[in-house]
Amino acid sequence: MILPGSTIGVLGSGQLGRMFAIAARRMGYRVHTFSPDQDTPTGQIADEEIIASYDDLDAVRNFARNVSVVTFEFENVSSAAVEAASEFAPVRPGGHVLHTAQHRLREKTFLANHGFPVAPFKRVASLDDLLAALNEIGCPAVLKTAGFGYDGKGQSKITSPDQAQEALNALGNQEAILEAFINFEREVSVVAARSIDGAFVHYGAVANEHRNHILDITVAPAPIPSRINQEAIEITRGVLETLDVVGVMCVEFFLTPQGKLLINETAPRPHNSGHFSFDACVTSQFEQQLRAVCGLPLGSTELLRPAAMANLLGDLWQDGEPNWAAACAFPNVKVHLYGKLAPRKGRKMGHLTALATTAEDAEQYVREARAALIKHF
Ligand code: AMP
Repeated sequence: MILPGSTIGVLGSGQLGRMFAIAARRMGYRVHTFSPDQDTPTGQIADEEIIASYDDLDAVRNFARNVSVVTFEFENVSSAAVEAASEFAPVRPGGHVLHTAQHRLREKTFLANHGFPVAPFKRVASLDDLLAALNEIGCPAVLKTAGFGYDGKGQSKITSPDQAQEALNALGNQEAILEAFINFEREVSVVAARSIDGAFVHYGAVANEHRNHILDITVAPAPIPSRINQEAIEITRGVLETLDVVGVMCVEFFLTPQGKLLINETAPRPHNSGHFSFDACVTSQFEQQLRAVCGLPLGSTELLRPAAMANLLGDLWQDGEPNWAAACAFPNVKVHLYGKLAPRKGRKMGHLTALATTAEDAEQYVREARAALIKHF
């Protein structure tokens, strides 16, 4: 067991690491963060911010030498870096989890081979592959890069085979995956955690709304029948067990109009759709990650009050600094800002969480509070 007072190493330095570091600091741990950037969201909270490339394996070894366990908040780290770290400290979740989750094609193949429900998909390495895949899967379909994609980056929707060449060019002719386009009724996700001894806890299914492929609003709990909620939880449990995850993992699903769940993707770390847990649950997803990777018993995931989360993207800064006082005027709304210096369009700068007696009210408050941010007086 890695006890308070020990040092935790975090690969990556964004908002997920920041909120992890806040949870770890609260419990008396020290935190070192490793990334190529400086004055980062995680570095502002951590005891030490190590600035080096993920490919600098000696720097990774040095980092791991000074911590009791290495975890991550950014999963697109190479296997070589994970192996270098694991020479000196346990890496949790393990490299095999990263290897699977960071590459769409490996992830989908793994899920399908183990009987988990996914949308029909095909590997695409050439125009001929793509035309054959479109013939089999049909249109509309979505072409995605096989590796290193997130928030809809490296994706294009194909509505007719004439667009095949153009779609391949847009992805830079990299290895890709073609998926059937799912006309979903809604998107839901389950954030869950698993400990070293196999204990499993989950936060239940939450409903997610995306805008421009980026998460916009999460509502907890999801307004779905309890049978579907249970099914989403059981699929998530299966994925964490099959992958032998130690830590936190999020499984994102499409829910079809026929009531069928299909996994869209998995993330082997705390997830944007679990941010509500920071304010609304007995144990947040970040503290849960800490407990899991330190070998401590997992905490209760109980939802204290229905909640809704709204992301704050850099776009909100378009006409100047948002009106923070206006959001704080909503007494049940919490403001989270990640300390990022440049508010670029589409960049996740922070989020709001609203708590209420019903999930519908929470969603309404969080939308109103976010709208109030851009009213300048
Ligand atoms: P991803 O980066 O794969 O998670 O995709 C981001 C978002 O794009 C998803 O949350 C969906 O809203 C949308 N999307 C991705 N794949 C599909 C698909 N096969 N069918 C319909 N919508 C999709």
